[in-house]
Amino acid sequence: MKVDTTLEKYRQFAKRKALLVTTKPVDVKVNKNAHTENSSAHMLKYTNPIHYVIVFSGGFYTRHKNNHYKLQEIIEHELAHIKEPYEHDAGFVRVAKNIGCARRYRYAQELKK
Ligand SMILES: [Zn+2]
Repeated sequence: MKVDTTLEKYRQFAKRKALLVTTKPVDVKVNKNAHTENSSAHMLKYTNPIHYVIVFSGGFYTRHKNNHYKLQEIIEHELAHIKEPYEHDAGFVRVAKNIGCARRYRYAQELKK
């Protein structure tokens, strides 16, 4: 199988940034069978996580994978959900900002564009 070196770069980026919010491992995957092609990415949520997985929707990833700025901002947004899983409230925005997530990517509706 061909190795996606671009995805590998995003994995390294996520790993480095994750140190700001967790000591647990973080992986990045692409779900080629995502039902919700209009969503960009989500954080797999577990009740007692031993690791975290950021999952990009396949279609979105294919369209935007060379837009490193956009994908890195989305990774930062998803990492903020480790601390604030459910909302995009003031607490979430604060965490996202600390990670380095640009202002417009701190809100869910901006991720899909
Ligand atoms: Zn979100």
